Amino acid sequence: MADIVNTLPFFYGNITREEAEDYLKQGGMATGLYLLRQSRNYLGGFALSVAHSHRCYHYIIEREANEMYAIAGGKSHKTPVDVIDYHSQETDGLVSLLKKPCNRPKNMLPKVGPFEDLKEKLIREYVQQKWNLQGAALEQAIISQRPKLEKLIATTAHEKMPWFHGTLKREDSEPRLQNGNRVNGKFLIRQRDERDSFALCLLHEGQVMHYRIDKDRAGKLSIPDGKKFDTLWQLVEHYSYKPDGLLRALTEPCPRPDADRRPLLPREHPSQASVISNVISKIQRIKPWGPRTGASDSNLNAYESSIDNDQAFQDGRMPMDMGVYESPYADPDELKSTSVDRSQLFLEDGELGSGNFGTVMKGVYKMRKIQKPVAVKILKNDDNNQSMRDEMLREANVMQQLDNPYIVRMIGICEAENLMLVMELADLGPLHKFLQHNKQTTMKNITELVHQVSMGMKYLEENNFVHRDLAARNVLLVMQHYAKISDFGLSKAVGEDQNYYKAKGHGKWPVKWYAPECINYFKFSSRSDVWSFGVLMWEAFSYGQKPYKGMKGNDVMQMLESGNRMDSPANCPQEMYELMKVCWTYKADERPGFVTVERRLREYYYDISH
Ligand code: AMP
Repeated sequence: MADIVNTLPFFYGNITREEAEDYLKQGGMATGLYLLRQSRNYLGGFALSVAHSHRCYHYIIEREANEMYAIAGGKSHKTPVDVIDYHSQETDGLVSLLKKPCNRPKNMLPKVGPFEDLKEKLIREYVQQKWNLQGAALEQAIISQRPKLEKLIATTAHEKMPWFHGTLKREDSEPRLQNGNRVNGKFLIRQRDERDSFALCLLHEGQVMHYRIDKDRAGKLSIPDGKKFDTLWQLVEHYSYKPDGLLRALTEPCPRPDADRRPLLPREHPSQASVISNVISKIQRIKPWGPRTGASDSNLNAYESSIDNDQAFQDGRMPMDMGVYESPYADPDELKSTSVDRSQLFLEDGELGSGNFGTVMKGVYKMRKIQKPVAVKILKNDDNNQSMRDEMLREANVMQQLDNPYIVRMIGICEAENLMLVMELADLGPLHKFLQHNKQTTMKNITELVHQVSMGMKYLEENNFVHRDLAARNVLLVMQHYAKISDFGLSKAVGEDQNYYKAKGHGKWPVKWYAPECINYFKFSSRSDVWSFGVLMWEAFSYGQKPYKGMKGNDVMQMLESGNRMDSPANCPQEMYELMKVCWTYKADERPGFVTVERRLREYYYDISH
């Protein structure tokens, strides 16, 4: 959302209410003159300032839990821009219709809040330190998880601020404020005995005033009868700007005695540097957890429990917390060759799945340093079928060349009682089946997963591979928020110049997923994978329904040739259906590539997540 709003000429960013009034005055104060600014107390919220009869009125546009926007008590809309459009037609509680936007002065960009500057750095440091990721893996982690990372950083940043003193009794806070520089407005925030209750302690004429900060049911923080805020740092920012009910405005933070005041990043503004250094020192204390190391939950320290309690994390862990995010090839001492030692491979009872080739079993591969849960594709031996064997080796050959967090990676080949292809494990199985059985999965969750698939496909496209069997059945879930592309049985490497693969003849093909040029000319490229990706999106947003249900391949072809396409799945967001239709552009050279598809999905995913 922020990206779209930032481009509006009447959006001013993080300005105060008073600054908004000044701009409206400069704009002439005609009734109905309005501007939009970022809310300084609600994460992801906005404020609308309107002139009426020479006075200014301000309305908060809150982002609701269902990702809609509304002025408190008013109608919900998809975007803040829709709220404005609506109120330019209907007053519906506003003092006036919104008549004329008050645009920013020339050359003025929307004002960036102090936290925005820090955010990027904090996210990067966090991902680097917590998951030990570098380079492309780090970038991919940030791209796929930005909304969650931003929320995490925003709601836990106070813990690293010098003015946050953790759990502290009232009587112990007073000497801290009385010591040293006794400047009026010196302040600290302490946590009271109860988990969600804090106190703002403020020095005023030599006396310490204590204001309780309570969290309401919706998680909003406020001093009694005061404004509500999503985070403590927003509350501090607000009361540093004006007293607004306190005896005076906050001036100087009282530093926590144990705060590390040695700047880690020397050229930073001191307060920013100490925030970053504190984040890092806290992150450094985090022990690895979850399946990645097999560490037990008792290893969680206080910071991790605060992560677990965070709203952003209530739907589970992030892909980077799972062992299969990191490349098995990251440690060169572990996987020296593609051949798997049978004596170190332990198969478990029960199949994960099966196909013509045989079965897929779950297992564990004991490597030098770690044990890896794996999926093992086992070729059935019955008639020593050479062509099946060649097929499996071809698949292994392709997989061996791929290394991306959103693609099932190969661990190796094992030649033993059977030929076995050992792969990373994606326990939750195929996407379509998961969605068929989990109808409560949100549109946001589905968007997140298809975005991950598009990231994996963008990687394939960049590396000149065509998948040729992209479908929801071949997207496996590691967890509800982590998808990987699998099944490279039909995949081919293509040349950089001749970037398509020409099949010699028609095979046993998944025609309902194939672009017209595949069927008509046997021609396969990343653009034909884009077509299949559109069908995959349709499957995902229809919760695993069969595409072109009840139709024969020939009828599907006729339908496509006559310019018709599948209807939108029920309740599918319009933006997503539009993207599917773009993926189903008839001519391959007019169809977008995965760079565009991934970007559009990313933008939409960030939009509904902010
Ligand atoms: P495939 O022939 O590759 O489509 O595999 C057949 C079935 O085995 C899939 O639909 C999955 O249910 C299961 N399977 C294949 N690979 C994996 C994996 N890496 N992790 C978990 N299950 C898998």
